[in-house]
Amino acid sequence: MLFDLHCHTSGISRCCRLPYNVIVDKAKEYGYDGIVLTNHYLACDIEKDSDKFIENYIKEYELSRKYGESVGLKVLFGAEITVSYNEAVHLLIYGVTKDFLRKYKNLPNLSQKELYEVCHENGCVLVNAHPFRYGMTVQDVRYLDGVEVNCHFIYGKCYAKELTRIAKENSLALTCGCDYHGDSDKPFGGTYLPDDIVTESDLANYIAKSKISNLKVHDPETKEIYDLSVQTRN
Ligand SMILES: [Zn+2]
Ligand SMILES: [Zn+2]
Repeated sequence: MLFDLHCHTSGISRCCRLPYNVIVDKAKEYGYDGIVLTNHYLACDIEKDSDKFIENYIKEYELSRKYGESVGLKVLFGAEITVSYNEAVHLLIYGVTKDFLRKYKNLPNLSQKELYEVCHENGCVLVNAHPFRYGMTVQDVRYLDGVEVNCHFIYGKCYAKELTRIAKENSLALTCGCDYHGDSDKPFGGTYLPDDIVTESDLANYIAKSKISNLKVHDPETKEIYDLSVQTRN
């Protein structure tokens, strides 16, 4: 199955140009079997009324999942946390549940170590979103389960080679996502997953343990689209 492990919808992510139904339709149209909804989650979102924000965040996922069911596209729940200590650091959480979000209302204000620990205590995993974008380095690999090759055209490069090396050296999963915001005709790139991944928990377990990462990479620099299969864990 081909999944986009990183996408946004305008109901929550203000920078996204398209509502959930169009995002789902586009993924279906361009050959994806599923997407993980990883809407932005920032400290400023929870400052005023965290309960309200979290319920809206959950509602957006439920609307997307139901619409996905109606057109035959799997939609799983995830989150993209912008950490409050550095707005350029984005960390993707896979394995997210409604209970998890309702229990931990302070995710953006945690350190990377704390976030990693909270994830692991709750069956979630933490993946560094789009490292090297705008000069960012990879975050502390001791507190990561994976690093993401990101195929969004505005990033200029996808850094697949560099990230493959980092994943191998540190026994991390390599994931691929589009970071699709509805700002191009279609999403590019994704991750091939086994057919038996059905739930958020299945996906988190797969990212935590899989030895081989199978990606569909779209390099925005060369416009090349290719399959990449790498063993990153022994
Ligand atoms: Zn991001
Ligand atoms: Zn994103």
